[in-house]
Formats: sequence, C-alpha cells, structure tokens
Amino acid sequence: MDIENIKGIGSKTVANLKKLNINTIEDLITYYPFRYDVIKRSDINNINDNDNIIIDGICENIPSVFYINRKLDKMNFRINTNSFIFNVVIYNRGFLKSKLKPGTEITVMGKYDKKHNLITAYNLELSLLNNTPRIEAVYHSTYGLTSKQIEKYISKIKDYEVTNYIPDYLMKKYDFIDKKSAIKEMHNPTSLENLKIARIVLKYEELFLFMLKMNYLKMHKNVKGLQRNVDKKLVDEFINDLPFTLTTDQMQCVNDIYNDLVSEKRMNRLVQGDVGSGKTVVSFIAIYINYLSGYQSALMAPTEILAEQHFININKIFEKHNIKVELLTGKTKNKKKIYEDLENNKIDCIIGTHALFTDNVKYNNLGLVITDEQHRFGVNQRSSLKNKGITPDILYMSATPIPRTYALTLYGDMDVSNIKTMPNGRKEVITLLRKNSEIKDVLTRMYEELKQNHQIYVIAPLIEESDKINLENVNNLEEKMNQAFSKVCKTGVLHGKMSSTEKDEIMNKFKNNEISILISTTVIEVGVDVKNATMIVIFDSYRFGLSALHQLRGRVGRSSLQSYCILISDREKERLNILTTTSDGFKVSEEDFLLRGSGDLFGIKQSGDMSFKIADLKKDYKILLKAKDDSLEFLENGEYENSLLHKELIEKVNNLS
Ligand code: ADP
Ligand code: MG
Repeated sequence: MDIENIKGIGSKTVANLKKLNINTIEDLITYYPFRYDVIKRSDINNINDNDNIIIDGICENIPSVFYINRKLDKMNFRINTNSFIFNVVIYNRGFLKSKLKPGTEITVMGKYDKKHNLITAYNLELSLLNNTPRIEAVYHSTYGLTSKQIEKYISKIKDYEVTNYIPDYLMKKYDFIDKKSAIKEMHNPTSLENLKIARIVLKYEELFLFMLKMNYLKMHKNVKGLQRNVDKKLVDEFINDLPFTLTTDQMQCVNDIYNDLVSEKRMNRLVQGDVGSGKTVVSFIAIYINYLSGYQSALMAPTEILAEQHFININKIFEKHNIKVELLTGKTKNKKKIYEDLENNKIDCIIGTHALFTDNVKYNNLGLVITDEQHRFGVNQRSSLKNKGITPDILYMSATPIPRTYALTLYGDMDVSNIKTMPNGRKEVITLLRKNSEIKDVLTRMYEELKQNHQIYVIAPLIEESDKINLENVNNLEEKMNQAFSKVCKTGVLHGKMSSTEKDEIMNKFKNNEISILISTTVIEVGVDVKNATMIVIFDSYRFGLSALHQLRGRVGRSSLQSYCILISDREKERLNILTTTSDGFKVSEEDFLLRGSGDLFGIKQSGDMSFKIADLKKDYKILLKAKDDSLEFLENGEYENSLLHKELIEKVNNLS
C-alpha cells in the first residue's frame, strides 16, 4: 500500500518521504532507527544548567494554561521530586490540564534552566519512570523530516501486513519472534534484550533471503549456456607452445575454464590471483578455446593503458595462429570499421575498455566476455550484456582477493578459481618502511638499482601542490628526482590529468627503458607490466589503503630480478608494517577489511543487491554463515518450490542473468 493512503499524512510529507525512497507502508515500517537513546532518570543531586533531564515526581499545584494564540498554548505547574521542587513549562499540552491534578505521578523530560529553577519540558508522561530506562528510537532525519516526525508517521500505521520470508521450521529452530512483533520492537523497544532479539530476527531474514538468492542463482543459472566442441589436444598444444610453463594453479584454472566452456552450463567464473600471479595468460587461453569453438571473445580492461598492453601481449601469444584481434578504446580512430567487422564476424577477439559494451557495438556471436581487474568495474555489469540480449560465458579476473566475508556475498553466485603460487623464479618483493627524514637512504637504494640499469616507479598522492593538505606531489618529486639523478638517467611524469596520448607516450618510453624513473600518481596502479622495473617508492604512503599499496607493490617483482618496495611515511607505522611482513594479498585484504570495514574497500559501489536495511556483513558474519547453510538446506530439501520465496527467486534470477 502506498504511503498516500496513511491517514494523517499530508501531501508535503508524502513528497518528503518519497525523497527518502519511502513509497509504501512497507518501506516506512522498515525504515529502521539508526540508533537508540537510552533514557534514564537523571540524578537530581547532580544536574547543571542547560542539561537535558528526566525526572519523576508528583504534580505540586493546579496547572495554569495560557492560550497564546489559537494554535499555541502554554502550561505552567510545579513538580515535586521529594527532595526538590521545580517549575515546569510545557507548550501545547493544555489538554492535559484536567488530568494533571495535584498529587498526580508524572515524568517530565526537558531542558533545565538553573537560574529560574525551570524545566522547559518537551515531554510529559502521566506515570512514573522509576528505574526502567526508556529506549528512544532515533531515525536519520533528512529532507525536512525530523526523527520525531518519522517516529510519528510510523506510529500512525496501525494495520499492515508483513511477509515473513523465514520458513516456519527455521522460525521454530531458532525460536524467533514473529516479524511483525520484531518490527514493532524496532520502533518501540520494550527493553534492550527484546530489541536485540528483534534485530537478530530481522537481520537473519535479510541475510537468509540474500544467501538464498545467491545459492539459487548458483544452482539454476545453467540456463541457455553455449555448448562447445573443442579438441582438447589443440588446447594442450597451444599451452605447450607458450614461452613458459604454466604453474600448477594456472593449469588448474585453465582446466576449470575448459570444463565450464564445454559444458552446457553457462560459465560464471572468477579467477582470483595476486598481482603478478599470471592471470592474463589464463584469460588468453580461454579466448583461444572460445575461438576454437567458433565464437567471438571480448576482453575488457579498466584502463586504456592496460587494454593496449593486453592487445600487444595477445598478438605475441597468438602469433602463429590465424586469430583476428582488434583494439577498441575511447580513442580508437576507425571505430566504424571495427563495429562493422564485429557484426560481420571478421573479428575473433576484441580488446578494450568499457567502450566494448556501448550501444554501437553489435556482436555477431559473442561467446565469451572477460573482465580484467573486475573489482574496478563494480559488481554487476552483467546487466549491460543482458540489455544486448546475449548470454555469453563470463570470466572475471581479479587481483584483489576478497576477504571470505565479502566473497560470500559479492561473489556468492560465482564459481571461483584461485592462483595462489607465483610463477617460478619470482623473488618476493622486499618491502621497507622509511621516514621522510631517511630520504638519503632511499635515494642511495634507488641509485643502486639505476646503476644496474633497472627502472623505478615513484608514487605521490597528489599531482600538484595543495594548500589544503601537506602531501608530496608529482610535480615537486619530478624536480627532486631530477636534482638527484639528472646526471644518471631520465625521468618522466604520469598522472590522471594528462591526455591519454600523453600518458601513452610516457608509458611507452618507460616500457622501452627510455625513461628510468616514472613519477606518477596511482593511475599506474592497475595491471601494468614492466619487468625491468625493480623498485617502487611510495611517498606519504599512509594516504593509501593496504590493498591499494599491495597493488602498487605488484608493479615490481615481475621477473626473476630482486625487487623492492619502499614506503615513505611519518605516520601510521603500525598499519603500514603489515605490508613489510606479508606479501600475501589475501592477508593484506583481510587486514584492510578489519581496519576499514566493508565501506568502499574495493572501490566497489554497493549495488542494489548489496544494500541491507539492517544487516551488516562484517558485524553479522556469524548470522550470515548460519543463513548461508540454512538457505542451502532449504533449497536442497525442495520445500521452496511451494513457498512464497519461489516467485521472488525466479524474478531475481531473471533480472540478474
Ligand atoms: P597478473 O596476474 O597480475 O595479471 P600477469 O598476467 O600480468 O599477472 O603476469 C605477470 C607476468 O608473469 C607477465 O609478464 C607474464 O608474462 C608472466 N607469467 C605468467 N605466467 C607465467 C609462468 N607460468 N611462468 C613465468 N612467467 C609467467
Ligand atoms: Mg593482470
């Protein structure tokens, strides 16, 4: 039912509520308080001027009421607390006068004015508070709505239906109170214990539903997958032809992908592997398998630099094969030709940025979509494919390992392959933490690398000087580096404000070793592969999250050369030290997660799927695990077929695929 239908809510309020995204009665009653104030009786012997106080006592005299105008009255009386007598003034409660006789037990809440021994009350209750604390719900107030108003509107809803999504047997198993009571308790808590119980029920329901959808998707998404006939021998030959031997984990990934692709089930797989673990070549093999079965592939990278790098590498790997690969980014000149060729199946594999999925692009028979550095894109770009009316197999690559808590929800409906081992011969990057005052040591270490003709990344949080914060910036560092090393080598600068042509020019110079020191902001962060770079120096590194720093560190150590990461910071030594002790991306991201919470840890905007009204993935992890197991069991025992949930699930699945 729409909120328009609630008696006593005017059209202006309705408009305001709608701005809060509250459109129905259900929305309103599930607009939960964001915190509770526990109100206890004030200690009367210990109150100060301007304190908000709550006292109880008895009415001392017959109140007097003044009518200031038709809409406003003012009532005065005295309250006797046994040890003190206070004057009380309260507005618009004149109607209580008849009930407020001398001797009536009352509780008064308001602000204390010491000089006049006066309480200006905002609330008055005709009962004693005694020692039971009152718990007051506080709502986020926005769009001209105060918390009190929201409370009032919610209290106006007397009759409503709620759908309880928790199956009966689980309600019994956990001895849950019914949903309607739980919701009531949320808005009008009767005690802290009851509130806690109510919150658990509601959180559980949200998480149960969510996990149910995820599990359902996982079980039922094998609709309309492509079936392929691929000669495994050809794949093996291709792998044998690679310039290196695949690691065991890479091989396992390839097998997982092969099995997905030849099965009828639609592939929805995530390959997780630390920076430098060699995900790219795995994706190239997937493209090859897809090509053998006669379908087009699309490989999407988050930046143009990365797309170009993939384009160059794939052409090397496919050298002996007659596979037509093209590059499509924002700055591609002959776009029209590429669109035509894609539509006419003259291109086997297209590599690019999100330009790959703009409206102009029509595929002839797209069979495989790969997203590299998936965490950069947000959770669900599948919908853009759906809009194109195609259901290709999907492979995600991610170098940011998702902590288990998060993986469960974020990637709950995907299959996951992990690359845990690094290619042979890699040495662990040595990470050092230095203060700004130790810059000499840093420069000496840089010089050692430069002498061996190795290259260095230097990272600063800002592009140019800022009068707001005192942080190292790219321009300033360029000067400093030139001062120190202009006799030995060339430096170059890269940052987000440069045009992509300028960026490419610099990047290419760095790749070709025409520049030895690349001074950059974090635009360099993703995927870039320059094997001869053996050192990365990150100024003011406390400005970055651990996962981001770990990514940056992954720019070096990409060959058998010993590499170094130097973190410069005068602050947050303890946090940064985590990086000096581990190079395991999983550990780093767990730590990051613990320190920063789920907020926007991975730069992932919360999608509709991920927004909970009351549950919190991190805090409610235990409930989440229960919900996960219970939802699986529920699906497996087949009961859902007859349940309310079934319809919801089907809808959900259709929206997602
Ligand atoms: P990431 O997983 O970070 O995307 P890349 O795919 O860019 O890593 O691989 C890093 C480097 O390691 C690349 O230069 C790649 O050619 C190389 N590489 C990948 N697999 C192997 C392997 N099995 N043996 C040796 N080098 C490899
Ligand atoms: Mg990569």
